[in-house]
Amino acid sequence: MIKVTGLKKHFGDLEVLKGIDQHIKPGEKVVIIGPSGSGKSTFLRSLNRMNDRVATVNGKIWFHGLDVNKPNINVYELRKNIGMVFQRPNPFPKSIRENIVYALKADGHKDRAELDRVVEESLRAAALWDEVKDKLDKSALALSGGQQQRLCIARALAVKPEILLLDEPASALDPVSTSKLEDTLKQLRSKYTMIMVTHNMQQASRISDYTAFFHLGHAIEYNSTAEIFTNPKGKITENYIQGSFG
Ligand code: ADP
Ligand code: MG
Repeated sequence: MIKVTGLKKHFGDLEVLKGIDQHIKPGEKVVIIGPSGSGKSTFLRSLNRMNDRVATVNGKIWFHGLDVNKPNINVYELRKNIGMVFQRPNPFPKSIRENIVYALKADGHKDRAELDRVVEESLRAAALWDEVKDKLDKSALALSGGQQQRLCIARALAVKPEILLLDEPASALDPVSTSKLEDTLKQLRSKYTMIMVTHNMQQASRISDYTAFFHLGHAIEYNSTAEIFTNPKGKITENYIQGSFG
């Protein structure tokens, strides 16, 4: 589904990704771990071209055989297929309902019943429906941080992506909200391919099948999550997992 070969990325003179190879099959749940500054966010953002204005790219990223960095691809469509959730919840300053249907409306969908259906379906999928069903026309900004983050997930789901990219989605949340967000992610596991950056090892082990360990722009180790956590091959991976740096 996603095939990355020899991916290098520069911000000016700074080489942030130094040759990443990665193969992700449909349905796989992958987490990326590693110290701050190792290029995890940059990698994730490369997949749906969120940083192509500021970075130089070498190497290839294929999505279903499509060269993601080809100049003439439809980046808007790409981002619908590869949805993204960021570290800080970033709902639009609009109602809950408008957040969900924003992209659909932009694409010309007008049928109220259809839009209502998508609102309910997306909010249910993000495990937020019961908390907000009576206030869909209230501002999204009035929700708690954890609810806003689940709303951002629902917003991404509304356009039926194949892949969800999540960049430390719980890093700004308190423990209770984090556990609700994890319930949401567990609920989504069966339906989506997910690639998530996290610093939380418990979260990584609960949600992922595979783990990639990034260090200084290299994907040092890639293996099943169980294997990486119990039997890491490299000393640096082992040190990181034991919490000695990061
Ligand atoms: P991580 O997510 O693993 O913490 P990042 O991918 O955010 O790492 O950053 C990797 C390196 O790239 C860091 O040194 C960071 O300062 C640099 N970097 C990230 N984004 C930009 C940018 N837009 N412009 C310049 N440098 C950047
Ligand atoms: Mg990051």
